[in-house]
Amino acid sequence: MYCNYCGKVIQDDAAVCAYCGIRVGASIARKQLVRPQQGRKIAGVCLGFAEYFDIDVVLVRLMWLIGSFMTGIGLLAYPIAWIVMPEEPLLLTAPVGAQHMANP
Ligand SMILES: [Zn+2]
Repeated sequence: MYCNYCGKVIQDDAAVCAYCGIRVGASIARKQLVRPQQGRKIAGVCLGFAEYFDIDVVLVRLMWLIGSFMTGIGLLAYPIAWIVMPEEPLLLTAPVGAQHMANP
């Protein structure tokens, strides 16, 4: 893979760029229950769980909805998770497409 900052080829599993020292591969290395900034529907709670457990976000939302209707736990758990789960820090979230436009 390529470093988002200096554009040099680095190890695929590298967490830090060997050339400029910038943290890369944050989404791969992430094993922290956070609410992602992108792709969220309400507060990103379901998306955070999906990324944490490496499952489909649609499945998480379905389970959450079913849980809400059947037991009400989901309704109660969502605002709690919203408060408890930290927001994903805004580091390398620049989309790949924008990178190409910036470097013709
Ligand atoms: Zn670099």
